[in-house]
Amino acid sequence: MTEPLLRIAGLCKTYPGADHAALAGADLTLDRGDILGLAGPSGSGKSTLARILLRLVAPDAGSIDLDGADLLAAEGAELRALRQKVQMVFQDPLAALNPRSTIARLLDDPLRLHGIPNRAARIADLMARTGLPADLLAKRSHELSGGQRQRVAIARALACEPKLIVLDEPVSALDVSVRARIVNLLLDLRERTGVSYLLISHDLALLNAVATRVAIIDAGRIVESGPPATLFRHPAHDATRRLLDAVPRLG
Ligand code: ADP
Repeated sequence: MTEPLLRIAGLCKTYPGADHAALAGADLTLDRGDILGLAGPSGSGKSTLARILLRLVAPDAGSIDLDGADLLAAEGAELRALRQKVQMVFQDPLAALNPRSTIARLLDDPLRLHGIPNRAARIADLMARTGLPADLLAKRSHELSGGQRQRVAIARALACEPKLIVLDEPVSALDVSVRARIVNLLLDLRERTGVSYLLISHDLALLNAVATRVAIIDAGRIVESGPPATLFRHPAHDATRRLLDAVPRLG
């Protein structure tokens, strides 16, 4: 299928009371299997775009086509089905995981919500796929290491076999020694499941290493996009040059 997994067009959002737009006509296309990197300065609209994709915030204008469906118009059962297709992993896994729930419960919740059968077997499979020992199932998130917590967040995001996972700075809160292992896990899971990623990160070296395409957002608009090798070597836009200038050296 050649139709893109995600097509965002003309997305606009101004928060109530704000004096400037968080998104000012953002266009973005993500092909199936892509790891689309999204980079831009703080306040450029990255989180707003992610929140709109998860239908946590409603845009003022624009359209989002997800897997052939109109994400912004969907309601009821269609919205539930689309929600299953887009999951999110946040920077700080501890903040994203309920501290009172056991890991088993954290993984069971989305399965129950979406009526997935054979939940115990599915949970065991998710633990194995994300490299987590089964004895962690009875623990709570504060008893785990940072890397283990992010693995749980990834397992939870994968639980309902999404098409797209939005990763918001997924490794920047982790110890340097753990980062590469989590990145490799994400690459491995994509290989095995065919899931696509929208990878929001200020880490241009990470995007250069793993992204299939990179889009640069500035003041609520995507100003350029392309394969990282091209984009970072021959930036066409000032915003991209400014991001590159902030990096000491890009291997
Ligand atoms: P980024 O994730 O790139 O840092 P954001 O999407 O968080 O950018 O923010 C884009 C703009 O919207 C910024 O000017 C920010 O101050 C504003 N903004 C973000 N969230 C809110 C909110 N809940 N209420 C008002 N303004 C907001």
